[in-house]
Amino acid sequence: MDWAIPARQDGQHAHNLALVARLIARHSAASRAELAQRSALTKTTVTQLVGELLDAGLVRELGTARHTGPGRPATELALNAFGPVGVGLQIEADHVAGCVLDLTGRVRDRALRRIDDAHGDPASVVKAAEPVLRRLLASAVDQDAVVAGVAVGVPGRVDAAGRVLSVELGWQRVPLADLLSRRLESLSGGAIPVAAHDASRLAALAEWWFGPADAATPLLAIGGELSLGVGVVEDGERWESGPSGPLGHVRHRRQGEVCRCGARGCLDTVAGPRAVLRAVGERAASRLPGGDGQMRSLARSEAPEARTALRRAAAALGDTLAGLSVLYDPMRIVVCGQLAALGTEFADQVADELGRRLPGDPPPVSVSGLTGDAVAVAAAATVTRRLVENPARWVAS
Ligand SMILES: [Zn+2]
Repeated sequence: MDWAIPARQDGQHAHNLALVARLIARHSAASRAELAQRSALTKTTVTQLVGELLDAGLVRELGTARHTGPGRPATELALNAFGPVGVGLQIEADHVAGCVLDLTGRVRDRALRRIDDAHGDPASVVKAAEPVLRRLLASAVDQDAVVAGVAVGVPGRVDAAGRVLSVELGWQRVPLADLLSRRLESLSGGAIPVAAHDASRLAALAEWWFGPADAATPLLAIGGELSLGVGVVEDGERWESGPSGPLGHVRHRRQGEVCRCGARGCLDTVAGPRAVLRAVGERAASRLPGGDGQMRSLARSEAPEARTALRRAAAALGDTLAGLSVLYDPMRIVVCGQLAALGTEFADQVADELGRRLPGDPPPVSVSGLTGDAVAVAAAATVTRRLVENPARWVAS
């Protein structure tokens, strides 16, 4: 006789499975007995749940065994570095970057494709994304890894249906996830879930997940490769939601230079990477296609126009951050994206400007030490983290 599992019991099972997977992620090389102790589940239940996670390829036995007392030595468990992987993409106006990330958080492969200017042309982005995806899918096949999902970071807002509104890219409700999903299906011959996210939110998550260990939240990340955005991690446990947005097109000056978006006086025209480089006669490029060298030489330059451009940018950022700090009360602020290449001296300038505008002690400001594809890595991590945090769906598939 077939007995349907009651919904409550099914939910309990999913909860316990997630509990054990999270404990293995947090305490790598844990034994079944340790997991039972930490989860307050019986050893029999833990053994059954671990069996499901092993069968699904999410965890593996490390093979080595510790002997800490009488009885049989315990087998240690860890997330499976050879299990399912996440693919992350980072789309900017001048490039598409991508990576493959395994469950342990290790980047297994990277790929990059330049674009002349993707403004107003989603087709050119999808075309540039194709060789990147092909390379990363082939890399996963070479490593016998199943791609659990693809996540893409894009500068702009993403609505609930996965459509992208991007001033930076000149896109109006572009169904990016659908476009990539169709392209992926023809490349892989199967259906791989695709999700799109605001790159500013992923940049903030990248700082939270891969930046210097510091449990303090809220964390506010401000920056971007070519246009400014802001993302806030309010609570690391609830990383799937959090405020973010394209800050660069908020008006900073009533009269000012004309912005890429057509309006006048946007924050990007004073503090965006394009504006600070244009002030010294340079054309901006994202870090990955070689833009960070220009930023570093700008930071070192003693030329009066360079010092003025950086002072104006720091003042504009301090001004904007003062308002955001009142709203979110961040414990720390990270300047990320291309402006991070300006270094700690620029972060100190921004901190001084912020301090002048806020009563009391302002939050510390630092520059990101992450790579130019941090948004792609964080995108991939959204896929792998979901596998660990909600393994029941993967186990059932
Ligand atoms: Zn603008």
